[in-house]
Formats: sequence, structure tokens, C-alpha cells
Amino acid sequence: MSSIQATRMLTPGPTPIPDRVRLAMAAPLPHHRKDAFKTVLAENQVMLKKLFCTSSPVIPLACSGTGGMTAAAFNLFSPGEKVLVATAGYFGNRWLDIVKMRGLEAVVLSKNAGESFDPEEIRALLDADPAIRGVFMQISETSTGVLHPVKEVAAVIRERDVLLVADGISAVSISPVDMDAWGIDCLITGSQKGLMLPPGLAFIALSPRAWKKAESVAPQCYYFDLVQEKANCEKNQTHYTSPISLLVGLHEALTMLLEFGMDNIFKKQWALTQMARTGLSAMGMDLFVKEEGRYTWGLTSILMPDSMPASPIVARAFKDCGVILTAGQGNLKEKVIRLAHMGWVDWADLAAGLHALAWSLPEKPEGAYLEKALEAYHKALGE
Ligand SMILES: *Cc1c(COP(=O)(O)O)cnc(C)c1O
Repeated sequence: MSSIQATRMLTPGPTPIPDRVRLAMAAPLPHHRKDAFKTVLAENQVMLKKLFCTSSPVIPLACSGTGGMTAAAFNLFSPGEKVLVATAGYFGNRWLDIVKMRGLEAVVLSKNAGESFDPEEIRALLDADPAIRGVFMQISETSTGVLHPVKEVAAVIRERDVLLVADGISAVSISPVDMDAWGIDCLITGSQKGLMLPPGLAFIALSPRAWKKAESVAPQCYYFDLVQEKANCEKNQTHYTSPISLLVGLHEALTMLLEFGMDNIFKKQWALTQMARTGLSAMGMDLFVKEEGRYTWGLTSILMPDSMPASPIVARAFKDCGVILTAGQGNLKEKVIRLAHMGWVDWADLAAGLHALAWSLPEKPEGAYLEKALEAYHKALGE
């Protein structure tokens, strides 16, 4: 059935795709072993390195983000090795499932949803157990909207023989992540969040010491063999058949991001976050993550009162306004609504999101929440 209104995806993946990227992907496919496509991959490498702030190769994998997480656990560690998993939500728990399936011995640092880690706590755990060889964490925990202090954790880890594996799936291209300068050993992202692409690609980069480790681990996963992928990457190829159209779309998306400039993209994400937080507070909603410096820049989570379960509100926002919001995950399903503002989303989309939410609440909020939100947006941009 057609609709008189646009559908707006204010979700933490997938996110809207710019026309430039859709049209690039609609062109006839180049063959993945021919020179024209090798040029695309070579240029992608240059741009991906800028995106990750690394001089290491950034390996594209044909899978969703979780495939990148799987590749990290299977390539960097051998069964029986001990690792620390820092989890504060749904995606942190996914790390735990993956490392267990890899046969690793997991020490778990667990926080309540909405909380973050203290780097000193991680230091103490590493001091207490020198057998720990890796730390797994999220940069941004998408289930709650928490931004973890990965830069500070990296500073604790880099002086030790411990690898820091960071899931940056909802952080890279959304807020600053400086892989080499921070000292992240393995950085992962996916295509369908900040990168303005459809789902289907994961990206993984390893530090020099992580590559050394990967070369010493016997491959036990036929598809995700990063040493083979790296050898192919150096020849501007992928090991298996390339996801050609996605990699062509990536070329256009990265070109756009770098044309805008990553600093401007981060500024926009910051301004949208301020807009969302101001608008929601003015509406009388309770922000799930309150601490300054600890909320992610790509989505804003709302803690719902018990009298207002999330799913009917999310359903109404879609039905009446065409806006796709997301309820919580796992045991937060009815407790949280997530208003995402990542990727190819601007202030007008977010204004639509704030309106759709307000419209769908059992009691309409009073006051000029939209004006206040837009004022906060312009102020955050320094306008
Ligand atoms: C979206 C997301 C994932 C999972 O990605 P898929 O593409 O669904 O496999 C993992 N971690 C974080 C932090 C995410 O936001």
C-alpha cells in the first residue's frame, strides 16, 4: 500500500541511504577481478584508513557487523586463552557469547544497562590476572546509548601484552575514534549505521602487534581468515567473491563523508545529539544516559515510565507519522525507546522524530519542545 508520507528510519541500523550512494550502486557491476574494480578497492583503502585514523589496512568483509566481531575473536585468540569482556548491555553480552563459542576463558566485568566502565577498574583486573591476553568492549553500546571511555581504557592496555578489541559499529563515522593514536588493537565497524550504506559489510583493522598475533593463531574459521584477506587487500582484491555493489556504494559514501570532512560530520552528530536531548527533556521525557561525556552521538535513549510501555508508542509513531523508532533490547524492551540520529539524517528528520514521539505519547506534552530542540541544534553548531 502506498502512503502519503515518507518513511523515516530513525533507527540504529539500517539508516537512510543518500541518492548519490543508491545511484552509484545501480550502475552496471564491474567484474571483481578486473582493473576498474581494483581501482575502486585501492581508493576505498585510502579513504577507510582516514576513517579509522590508522595506517593499517582496513579489511572489508561480506557480512553484517557481528561477522566482524566473530572474525576478531577467531583470528586474534586461540581456544583456552583468557580474555576480559567488559559488558554493559546487549552488544557487550554478544561479545561474551562469541568469545565463549571461540573457546576462550572469559573474565567478565559487568555493568548495569546505562552505566559505563571506569578505566581504573579495568587496570585493577588486568593487574590481578596477568594471564588475560585481550579486552573486548564496545565503543558505543547501542542498546542503551552509552559511550564507553575507550581512549582511556586503551591507555591502560597499550603498555601491556594485551590486545584491545573495540566494537565501533555505532561509533566509527559518528563520533571521533582515532585507532592508532588511541592504541586500539582491533577496530570493527559495519556498513548500515554511520556509513550511509545498506547492511552487508563489516570492516576490521588490526594494529601491527595484533597482526603479529593473528599470524600466530591457527585459522579455524574457513570464511573469516584475516591473514588471507590482508594478503588479498594488499593486491586490491578480496579473498572470496567481492560484495561488488556494496563496495562501489562504499566508495561513493566515503567520498561524500570526506568531502564534508569528518570534523563536520562529528559536529553535526554532536548537534543532533544536543537537539534530541534538549527536545526530549523539554517534553518531560527521562533521558536514559544522563552523565555528560557518556552518551553516544548517534542515538538518544529514553527511559519510559512503567505506565508507558515502549512498543505501543513506537507502533503509533510509525502508523501515524511514518517514523520508525526502536524499542529497547532484551529486558529493556518496554523500558526504553531509542531515537536514532546517525548517518544520512539531518535536523529536519530529527524534528520529525521528536514530533512523532510527542504525537504518540498517551498524553501530549505541553510547551515548545521543538523550538527548544532546534535552538539547541544551532547553538551546538555555533550558529
Ligand atoms: C548494530 C551493532 C552490532 C551488530 O551488527 P549487525 O550488523 O546486526 O550484525 C554490533 N555491535 C554494535 C555496537 C551495534 O550497534
